[in-house]
Amino acid sequence: MSTQIPKTIKAIQVDKVGGPEVNVLREIPTPVPKENEVLIKVQWSGVNYIDNYFRSGLYPVQHPYTVGQDAVGTLVQAPEGYHIKVGSRVFTTAGSAFAEYLVASRDRVAALPEDIDPKDGVSMATQGLTALYLLKESYQVKKGDWILNRAAAGGVGLILTQIAKYLGVNVIGTVSSQSKVDTVKQSGADHVLLSSDSSESNVKKILELTGGQGVHAVYDGVGKDTWEEDFEVVRRKGTIVTYGNASGAVPPFPATKLSPKALKVTRPTLFAVVKTQEEWDEYTSELIDLTKKAKIHYAVHKEYGFSAEDVIQAQKDIQGRGTAGKLLIKISE
Ligand code: NDP
Repeated sequence: MSTQIPKTIKAIQVDKVGGPEVNVLREIPTPVPKENEVLIKVQWSGVNYIDNYFRSGLYPVQHPYTVGQDAVGTLVQAPEGYHIKVGSRVFTTAGSAFAEYLVASRDRVAALPEDIDPKDGVSMATQGLTALYLLKESYQVKKGDWILNRAAAGGVGLILTQIAKYLGVNVIGTVSSQSKVDTVKQSGADHVLLSSDSSESNVKKILELTGGQGVHAVYDGVGKDTWEEDFEVVRRKGTIVTYGNASGAVPPFPATKLSPKALKVTRPTLFAVVKTQEEWDEYTSELIDLTKKAKIHYAVHKEYGFSAEDVIQAQKDIQGRGTAGKLLIKISE
């Protein structure tokens, strides 16, 4: 397959710390892959909550940078002997994804089977792999366990429930508004609680549902606002998996906070858990397999265009707590 690679491309970049309005669309030189990298022509990119952390300065980053975590597109250039054929459709968590072409490390790319929709491939990248590793490694769920899935209508949240239900787990989800309750029930959650209800009443309900014991694990991407409540609803010897900061980072805490219930707390990231080529291959092939076996539905909240205005709106939307599922940026046909 021969593809004419342009000298310049359009990309969404950020030059300084700030709100969503610091996203700009500009023309930049086409990135050139190094020895261990590949070039991908991007079709769809995904909006992720982490985009806000980089932009707002919560996670320090060098400026200017090209926005975006994950994408689906066509592999257009690869080192000789690369295990994926040029011309194949691929998904990646390479970063710099809001751009017409991106360069990815050769070990951060997986072939997307023809029978999986490219839009699903975007959800599978950061959010799908995260949901899978949280349930497999951060706390390895067992059939019959009870878990609490915070922000259960979000990108990670909807996938996490579906995988957990496939594995025979009892799922309690939380959402901030009534409008998301049905979506979370459709994803299979056994019970859905409103985080806008009082913490006291939610703790009581969770304890009632779990025979007074609490959940085996809390999966919490909300962070600061729900941190204290996590300690009340987790059972003795349970695990709190704090994996995100949508409401702000959790505060530092003394290890003795864990002793009354002999708890475990873990703070994983996708990039630290799925790091080696072997881990990437294992997780991506398991997710592809599960997508088919468990018939995972990758909900799309909205498709946005490839402009600064669209990206600004998408970031406002995901921060505004009104979204359910994936926010997609259409980069090219
Ligand atoms: P979501 O689509 O889940 O959006 C974030 C959700 O967080 C919102 O929909 C909202 O749901 C909830 N939320 C709670 N409090 C607030 C607040 N104060 N402001 C805004 N939103 C809030 O995003 P993602 O699926 O992309 O990510 C979910 C979480 O997972 C994020 O914290 C993200 O950083 C984290 N993450 C972590 C990874 C890791 O490896 N550690 C990898 C990928 C994501 P509601 O209003 O219903 O509460």
